[in-house]
Amino acid sequence: MKDISEQDLNTNLRLVAKHGPTHRTIVSVGPAEIGGGRVVVMAGPCAVEGAEQVLEIAKQVKAAGAAMLRGGAFKPLTFPYRNEKMFELRERGLAFLQEAGRQAGLPVVSEVVDVRLVDMVAGYVDMIQIGSRSMQNFPLLEEVAKTGKPVLLKRHYGSSLRDWLGAAEYLLYNGNSRVVLCERGVVAPHTHQPASRFIVDLQAVPALHEFTHLPVIVDASHATFRREYVAPIARAAVAAGADGLILDVHPVPAQAAVDPLQALNYEAFGQLMGQVDGIAKVLGRTI
Ligand code: PEP
Ligand code: MN
Repeated sequence: MKDISEQDLNTNLRLVAKHGPTHRTIVSVGPAEIGGGRVVVMAGPCAVEGAEQVLEIAKQVKAAGAAMLRGGAFKPLTFPYRNEKMFELRERGLAFLQEAGRQAGLPVVSEVVDVRLVDMVAGYVDMIQIGSRSMQNFPLLEEVAKTGKPVLLKRHYGSSLRDWLGAAEYLLYNGNSRVVLCERGVVAPHTHQPASRFIVDLQAVPALHEFTHLPVIVDASHATFRREYVAPIARAAVAAGADGLILDVHPVPAQAAVDPLQALNYEAFGQLMGQVDGIAKVLGRTI
């Protein structure tokens, strides 16, 4: 695996590369400004399960200080089976998410998994998520870039920073510089264990701030896969300088349609927000 060289920064990564120590991009998604003084917290269900469900979650996370609402409607599930317990609402889910965001006053982010659906998804969301599994789907990146919507680019769990920034470069090269990078854990040969499916690469946060002007956030939910670990890693991410967090929140986490092991309930989310606020203040930031 190649390291990022000076030459890369001048050629292959010329658009994402930082030009000078204070060069930073702030990505605005509605009123949320990612990469500025505020640590932006995006929160919501892994999968949108219904109109009332996502509206209630939206109001709860907003009251606790979240700046954006997340929710999956098209899920890149590991196995092809869907049933009454594990499902995705597809376009209906996007409409529910959009309406919940509107009523709660939160911009919304959701994933697009299929190049054929980019324009449809863009019609419902304020920010488009490229999931870990799609990070190097270059035609998808091109189409998403062309919508002009802000993009949340998750790191593939097997990718180097060089490959990840190369994917971001595709977005900028296709005319879209409103890109936020999201660390979500990487795999190593020993990580397919119940206690550590992924390793959270927190060093990526300061490393990316060294190489690129783009903001960096951390998904402490998908990175840890276990709710017991979400708060410690979220706190550490903010301490490491992350510009934001994305977190799964569900009223009854064990019953979540997707990823029931990692969601936080409202109480745990509220408590974490208080802690993150304290950490942000030490660093001269707010949430
Ligand atoms: C998600 O955020 O819902 C998700 C599927 O994450 P990732 O692509 O990081 O696995
Ligand atoms: Mn998930």
